[in-house]
Amino acid sequence: MDSRRLPLTAIYDAQCEICQAAVSWIRALDRRGLVECVALQDGPVQRLHPDLLTADCLAQLHVVDAAGRVSVGWQAVARIAAAIPATRPLAALDRLATTRAAADRAYRFVARNRHQLSTCRGGSCAADPAQVRLETGNRAFWTCYSLGMLLRLPLVGAITVRDQACFVRDYARTFRRRRTLLDGRLELWFLGGWPADLVPLAFGERFTAIWYKGVLIDPGSVRMRRSLTSHLHAAAQRGQTIAAVTATHGHEEHVGNLEWAAHLAGANLVLPERIAARLRPPAPIPWARAAVIGQPPGLHALVRDPGESIALADGGRLEVIPAPGHSPDHVVFWDPAERVLLVGDAFMGSYFSSPNPDVDSRAWMATLRRLLDLDVQVMVEGHGHVHSLRTDVPPVPGVVRHSDPRAMLREKLEFLTWLDARISEARAEGRTKNATVAACFPWGRSWSWERLAADEIARLSTVGEFSRHQLVRSFHRTPHDVLPTVFEARFTPRDPT
Ligand SMILES: [Zn+2]
Repeated sequence: MDSRRLPLTAIYDAQCEICQAAVSWIRALDRRGLVECVALQDGPVQRLHPDLLTADCLAQLHVVDAAGRVSVGWQAVARIAAAIPATRPLAALDRLATTRAAADRAYRFVARNRHQLSTCRGGSCAADPAQVRLETGNRAFWTCYSLGMLLRLPLVGAITVRDQACFVRDYARTFRRRRTLLDGRLELWFLGGWPADLVPLAFGERFTAIWYKGVLIDPGSVRMRRSLTSHLHAAAQRGQTIAAVTATHGHEEHVGNLEWAAHLAGANLVLPERIAARLRPPAPIPWARAAVIGQPPGLHALVRDPGESIALADGGRLEVIPAPGHSPDHVVFWDPAERVLLVGDAFMGSYFSSPNPDVDSRAWMATLRRLLDLDVQVMVEGHGHVHSLRTDVPPVPGVVRHSDPRAMLREKLEFLTWLDARISEARAEGRTKNATVAACFPWGRSWSWERLAADEIARLSTVGEFSRHQLVRSFHRTPHDVLPTVFEARFTPRDPT
């Protein structure tokens, strides 16, 4: 085998913004997984190779190949560059003695000055992270943070272009369509209208109504009435029953057509009291959301509170479980017979990071813990995604993902738990609001820079209503909550010993 193709282990300093950014680049470009990046703070380096010393690894990049050969400094960079097709031109510098010497000098310069370049006093020059935390000023913090962002900006751009292409593709694939699952017991009706369609195009959150065994859930906003009408007509032609219309929570894209759809389908309007109360009369929503999604009309018809469950067409019961967090009135619907969870917006991806202002993350964590007690096998989100590993739920492009619902819920809970710990530390240290947000979104975590553009678009287009700041605020809901500042010498939660 060509030695350039052997898998490589790169040992880097996770305390250094430049090293971290280089690792982000390697992970993005290394399509075949030939380079494994290991932080030297993750454990004794001798487990990777008996000759390695921590002090040497802190000074320069080390690469170990599968044959046990160690490359150091520029040679290590050249080994990685040669392994990844996109970086081969960089490896070409190693072919000629003159270019090799120049590359080696450049590498040594960066390695020697990397802590100055990032104004970072963590890592090799600090033995005690707690002391560094105390002594390092905000200027050093922001220099580090800005440098980390700058080095990743091209990656942010690339991932944003990729995501946008996926959003447009999935939008086109499901445009006003119906997706039938579980032998016709579950249907997703894709809704839309203008200008509401800007949301799925910009953020990938499509609008859906769920039809499940005779119950219609979340029938969209007033702007989506035309698309809902055609779905209702088609359902009537198929002889499909709609016995009840309900909603998971009171957000405008879910509740604008409740009364109207129930009337058209001749169905009962069944709504938990907390959701109904929000619509009697409807609380006015901010103008931007009203313009794009549409202000929900007030409820006038007779509304039945479902209590603990709603009757299903097959004789079963759909349990109504309070699930506050995304909004205080949120409920999820659980069919224990089928192990199907209609989760609404109580799950919107594991790393959803620019939430609405009514999110209460601590309540959400409690909800996720309760949902993890259920043996969920099929999880249907409120914005067009279904997660299941079951063979009778085959993957559907852009809709059904072959993923374990419980693993997804657990991942989200772990993310919120991690954020909660960072925010508590920040409060204890009395740091500024912006520094708290920055500490919650360290560039060393891929979800932080991968979601940067999406979160910024959300923040700018809603004038800060949906933002990372809201996520941080959502952990400590007090009147006049001015969040204290944080500075973490390094963002990683583990103690680098
Ligand atoms: Zn919502």
